[in-house]
Amino acid sequence: MGKCSKDKRDLYYRKAKEQGWRARSAFKLLQLNSQFGLLDGVSRVVDLCAAPGSWSQVLARTLPADTAKIVSVDLQPIAPIEGVVTLQADITHRSTLESIFELFGGEPADLVISDGAPDVTGLHDLDEYIQAQLLLSALSLATSMLKPGGAFVAKIFRGRDVDLLYSQLALLFERVACAKPRSSRASSLEAFVVCQGYVPRAGWVPPSLAVAARPALCAPLVPASAAAAAAERVVAPFVACGDLSDYDADASYPAAGAAALDPVQAPTAPPYKTALELKRRGALN
Ligand code: SAM
Repeated sequence: MGKCSKDKRDLYYRKAKEQGWRARSAFKLLQLNSQFGLLDGVSRVVDLCAAPGSWSQVLARTLPADTAKIVSVDLQPIAPIEGVVTLQADITHRSTLESIFELFGGEPADLVISDGAPDVTGLHDLDEYIQAQLLLSALSLATSMLKPGGAFVAKIFRGRDVDLLYSQLALLFERVACAKPRSSRASSLEAFVVCQGYVPRAGWVPPSLAVAARPALCAPLVPASAAAAAAERVVAPFVACGDLSDYDADASYPAAGAAALDPVQAPTAPPYKTALELKRRGALN
């Protein structure tokens, strides 16, 4: 499938290019924000797993430039975005938390968002495990640096035991919802946990720079046993975000005469970069 046909078929893909978003994911955050008011009154925000940067663009375009502090983190380099500090780092490493704290001058964050997804190996169990680790790291990071009342949003894939996850999140946040933006394909298990009203757990002290050696990022966040958590399974409300007049991500739209548009931002370090380089040098057929 050429880029031209995708331009015509996927309206969000096309609209993203027209509006200057680096990825169609921008619409997911926009729709989540219009449903939950996530960005209202926010000044310090961390965007985890942020490359190529469309969520960071939404933050930079929506939050007041004079007061907002936006830190975006990814394994991949993120091309510069005005008003955003980018970090090339692994969110599963504790040193990443320290770097973010430093950038915030030790102040807590109002909001932590994560659109993390690992490179898929095709080995289902392994992929699921890595995705769960990413979510756990994002949550660990969020609970280490959110202010009381702060919010956390993260991508999940709704699997078998997703209600256990909701139960555990409900121990840390006043409100937990499972949200599906209209720009996320209905055919995909992708959804977002939207957790608002962070309540630090009594007796659990989030790590700070001074106590960086404390094993916070790897320790279980919620000490309750699986059996205890199962006894208190929470049914998180399922919230479809975006109004019916928004485009349907699963539909194909006619786009008579639509020309292919160039990407807003070329990939900074695509996995196929080495192969292209070898091919250019004639080392690959
Ligand atoms: N929200 C982004 C946007 O709007 O442009 C798209 C994020 S993309 C779906 C998922 C990202 O997760 C990838 O860029 C990948 O590099 C990143 N990622 C995966 N594992 C990571 C890790 N351990 N630490 C940091 N980033 C990670």
